[in-house]
Amino acid sequence: MKYSQKYPNAEPLQMVDATIMCGRKADNCVQCGALTKFIDIDFETHVCSEECEDKLIDEFFRHAMKR
Ligand SMILES: [Zn+2]
Repeated sequence: MKYSQKYPNAEPLQMVDATIMCGRKADNCVQCGALTKFIDIDFETHVCSEECEDKLIDEFFRHAMKR
């Protein structure tokens, strides 16, 4: 689900989840390119939805295990 749908009343700089914050301005989701105000604070990158967050974490661990 899109974070903008899940947290429609999120204020700028509000934490909406353990690792997800609503940013001050929108930017492109690192996974799908959609404009979103939500940021993953662990990866310091914009991410628009739970699905994109899952993919981001997936890729991170796959990459980490190759080393
Ligand atoms: Zn996305």
